[in-house]
Amino acid sequence: MEQIQPTALAIRVNTTLSNDPCALCSQPTDPTGIDLYLAEKSALVCHACGLLHAPALARLLDLVSAANTFVRAEYEMSGVQTDEKHL
Ligand SMILES: [Zn+2]
Repeated sequence: MEQIQPTALAIRVNTTLSNDPCALCSQPTDPTGIDLYLAEKSALVCHACGLLHAPALARLLDLVSAANTFVRAEYEMSGVQTDEKHL
């Protein structure tokens, strides 16, 4: 079994939605607009790796995504611009 090294991850607003492969496992990622990145560089990390390396952040991201979907719908109804790209 491979030793899991602690990896500093960060939640960032994804303004490019580039669909890059995960920086840790090279699997395709599924950018949602608020995504996990390596802390020290702008490299997307998939949800599975997030759960492995930073479970608390990955769970937080689940909450963020749910809240963001709700807020985005509210914003769209009232015509407020956000800093995210639309899917
Ligand atoms: Zn991954």
